[in-house]
Amino acid sequence: MIRHLEDPATRWDVVVIGGGASGLGAALEAVTRGYRTLLLEQHDFAKGTSSRSTKLVHGGVRYLAQGNISLVLEALKERGRLKRNAPHLVKDQSFVIPCYLWWCVPFYTIGLTLYDLLAGRLGIGRSVPLSRKGVQKALPAIKTEKLKGGVRYFDCQFDDARLAVNLARTIHEHGGVVINYMQVTGLMLNDGRIIGVVAKEMEQGRSFSIKARVVVNATGVFVDDILKMEHPTARDVVRPSQGIHLVMERSFLKGEEALMIPRTSDGRVLFAVPWHNRVVVGTTDVEKQEAALEPRAAEAEIAYILETAERYLARKPTLDDVRSVFTGLRPLAAPSGEGKKTKEISRGHKILVSEGGLITITGGKWTTYRKMGEDVIDAAASRAALTPVKSVTRHLKIHGYREKVDRSDPLHWYGSDLDQLEKLTGEDPGMSAVISEKLHIIKAQIVWAVREEMARTVEDFLARRSRALQLDVAESLRIAPDIARIMATELGYDDGWIASQLDAFAALARNYKPEMNMNH
Ligand SMILES: Cc1cc2nc3c(=O)[nH]c(=O)nc-3n(C[C@H](O)[C@H](O)[C@H](O)COP(=O)(O)OP(=O)(O)OC[C@H]3O[C@@H](n4cnc5c(N)ncnc54)[C@H](O)[C@@H]3O)c2cc1C
Repeated sequence: MIRHLEDPATRWDVVVIGGGASGLGAALEAVTRGYRTLLLEQHDFAKGTSSRSTKLVHGGVRYLAQGNISLVLEALKERGRLKRNAPHLVKDQSFVIPCYLWWCVPFYTIGLTLYDLLAGRLGIGRSVPLSRKGVQKALPAIKTEKLKGGVRYFDCQFDDARLAVNLARTIHEHGGVVINYMQVTGLMLNDGRIIGVVAKEMEQGRSFSIKARVVVNATGVFVDDILKMEHPTARDVVRPSQGIHLVMERSFLKGEEALMIPRTSDGRVLFAVPWHNRVVVGTTDVEKQEAALEPRAAEAEIAYILETAERYLARKPTLDDVRSVFTGLRPLAAPSGEGKKTKEISRGHKILVSEGGLITITGGKWTTYRKMGEDVIDAAASRAALTPVKSVTRHLKIHGYREKVDRSDPLHWYGSDLDQLEKLTGEDPGMSAVISEKLHIIKAQIVWAVREEMARTVEDFLARRSRALQLDVAESLRIAPDIARIMATELGYDDGWIASQLDAFAALARNYKPEMNMNH
């Protein structure tokens, strides 16, 4: 991939900065319209917010309650498209709202029926009221004192970092170039007009000057840093808002259905959703002043989730029950008026065109990444006078697409790549060696991640090619030496690399241990 940058005369149609949901969506849109496309990510794909979501592909029941119908409508359409284009990574998920007040059952049934109707042809199931017994059956681990009944509705669940890696591969398959560990350090300007970027390759430190007809800034909570490369005094356009998740054993929820609390004591939404062999509980919404690649949960956020979960779960979860804590920053588009709390800011996306022609996208959510890509490339093409081409991504299959997915296979989310993994294990029985029984990781996955998925570090594999770090931090630390050894053999690195990788991973993993986030 890097070789494509070596000829300084090359001029790209579109250069996208940022390899999260927004940047990958933009690059996929550009390349499938036939534009010569390059995406640069400073760390790994989905290192930022895009690996730290609640893993829901949803219309957003909460936004419906806020009366934001157009946002919900758009997200529901995109939910249906994503499910159709990446069935190996997106699945239907039923949610149950338990009701402890009599009026709550009809109230939510009516609201959620409207939600179903908005999804139209792309709907996935009808919402239904549940009796007290029905709720107990759906959520066997819930508190039943004063329980009146409930409502079941449907949304989808996905694997965020796996989708990001699969999108990067899709872009490449359509002729685009995607590079991780390549940081944009400056913009090239001519007469005030942006004509390219300067980028630094993070492994060996080489710098590249890259010409582009248009540059898209899709750097999440870092968009203001890029905007300031053009105008050091540019007004901040992003308001970061932090959300954390606690990951616990499945026994806290039991069964396959998710719990949804539409209004917690302080007016937020809380989800407890089965994910792989764990349950993800979250999230919070706390305004932050600083952007960070590795944000940390605050003690108060952890306490809030544990206390709220305790109110609804029969068994009280404690800090000892938490297998991992992961934290993300929402790149919310700052509203023009002051004083809005982050939970009140719209989750819609905003596109901004600077004086010099930098196209910035902010806000939005994973669910709408495709539509965000479509909108931002419309704006980019118009600004750079690229040949207008209609979007084709609505029906574009994402790498790994497979019509029939056997979800009982713990590796089903590789989709069509599963055949290649099986080929690896067929050719060399050593590839079937079990690295983690708990997390269903075999040696072939690590080799595959290096050869085919651009994994460069132990963290890339444990945090994003597999989800070990988010599922079970202790288990990820236990298997880290095996991962490092296998990767070093594949990449041709020595014992020094292994030692430094293990030090770096141990330092990172501290952020995911619940006890390390206390007093913070
Ligand atoms: C707690 C939480 C829960 C969420 N849950 C959901 C959910 O369930 N469903 C849903 O649809 N959405 C959800 N979202 C929203 C969704 O995750 C985000 O909207 C989305 O991931 C943002 O993607 P992004 O690409 O804009 O930002 P990011 O993923 O942060 O990507 C930006 C990238 O730019 C890179 N970058 C920065 N500077 C440079 C540079 N100079 N050079 C090169 N690269 C650079 C960064 O390294 C980063 O990888 C959630 C968000 C949070 C915080």
